Amino acid sequence: MPIYEYKCKKCGHIFEAFQSMGSDGSKLRCPKCNEAGPEKIFSAFASTGHDATFGAGGGSSCGSGGFT
Ligand SMILES: [Zn+2]
Repeated sequence: MPIYEYKCKKCGHIFEAFQSMGSDGSKLRCPKCNEAGPEKIFSAFASTGHDATFGAGGGSSCGSGGFT
């Protein structure tokens, strides 16, 4: 299960939380000030996530899917 880091928009407190894929963490609350809707931080995945960008942007729009 992936662990994401979140930053509180109100007090700036950074904390970790378990989140399933696709969840934006809007239901989370800051453990310090109880503010809802913390900002998600990609700490570990940001530096190595460029592979997905190369794989997805390979000009697939014109090569596949001839139907209009
Ligand atoms: Zn807070």
